[in-house]
Amino acid sequence: MIDFLGKTIECRCGRIHSIPSIDIVCENNLSERLADFFENPLFIVDENTFSLVNIPEENTFILKDPNRVMATMENVRKILSLLKDKDYRHIVSIGSGTLTDIARYSAFISKKGFSCFPTAPSVDAYTSSVAPLLVEGVKKTLDAKIPEKILIDPEVLVNSPTDLLRAGLGDIAAKVTARLDWVLSNFLTGEDICNFVWDDIKDLLKEVMKDTKKVLQRDQSAIMKLMKTQLISGLNITIVGNSRPASGAEHLISHVLEMYQECRGKVPLFHGLQVAIGTYVTLKAYESLMQDIQFAKDKLPLEEKKKLLVDFFGIQIADEFQKIYLHKKRVEKINIEDIKKSIETLYLQYHSVLQSSLLDIGVEELFSKYDKNFIKNAIIVSTMIRDRYTVLDLFDQYEILNGFCNWFIEQL
Ligand SMILES: [Zn+2]
Ligand SMILES: [Zn+2]
Repeated sequence: MIDFLGKTIECRCGRIHSIPSIDIVCENNLSERLADFFENPLFIVDENTFSLVNIPEENTFILKDPNRVMATMENVRKILSLLKDKDYRHIVSIGSGTLTDIARYSAFISKKGFSCFPTAPSVDAYTSSVAPLLVEGVKKTLDAKIPEKILIDPEVLVNSPTDLLRAGLGDIAAKVTARLDWVLSNFLTGEDICNFVWDDIKDLLKEVMKDTKKVLQRDQSAIMKLMKTQLISGLNITIVGNSRPASGAEHLISHVLEMYQECRGKVPLFHGLQVAIGTYVTLKAYESLMQDIQFAKDKLPLEEKKKLLVDFFGIQIADEFQKIYLHKKRVEKINIEDIKKSIETLYLQYHSVLQSSLLDIGVEELFSKYDKNFIKNAIIVSTMIRDRYTVLDLFDQYEILNGFCNWFIEQL
């Protein structure tokens, strides 16, 4: 399925990339014979995914939640305590991003083997080596295990819930804005960039976005291509050693939306759906830049920004984020024409296909779930939560972020 697994590549970025070797098995009816692949495994399922597979009960643990199982340390602890009593050799998640993250971190802590059976092409997390988990209400990205095997049953993916298909397309669309932000940051701040992790995915990305409607109509080959692209995107994170290839301003916006819900004990939308919202905002930011849309300079005072952070996350987390914000890179000289040149080719190649893909997955319906002013504040807050340079930092520094947000929400 992916030809560069297990290889070592001397890259033009100056680094040697070791690509993990993962055994990817893709066959129909795998869901019936998962137990054949492992010696004394512990399968982690939830109530939905349990019904998709045929696995021995004594090797199965069902995570339950009246709303939706979340990737929390509490759930990891449940698995770790099970492992004390019985000598399971291997942990296998049967689910999408959340169950995979719980299982991969549990395997890392308990030093067990880890494999996964994805039940939806909804995220790029399957091939990743880190697990974002809620630790006492705060989201932390923790080191975890790369899977030894990824077992894929096309029948199962084709039947995944529609919102998970939409989410998968959202998380894929994000790779375009993530790349734009990376190219921008490379140009403006000198941040290192790698082309290998773009060349391996750029054509597939376009094909998947063009096939958005086919994915939503459950065309098997379109869905398998989406899955393959997710696996490569996750590998790209592992290859580079951080999430830069897969995550820019759009993910920062999605993290704000997720954290806002989580710190209120609520269940957020699926990851890729929040990401679709962030991707649309980021696309519009690039559009306004490339089309010379003028915004009046209007600098939001630091005090007001701090107040937003406190409103969103409480005083303690707000303090941490403010520190991050104050240490963010600032660019000395900004020449808009030069900036436009640096991203023009990439922008022109992907703008229209990205826009139609987002509209086809119903991004407008996603925005309608939120108050416009809340969206504006979430965009502003998103520039303060992580030391990662994006187009929104450029706008912030150029004092047009507020103007952009007002223009953006007026069009919703
Ligand atoms: Zn993502
Ligand atoms: Zn490289």
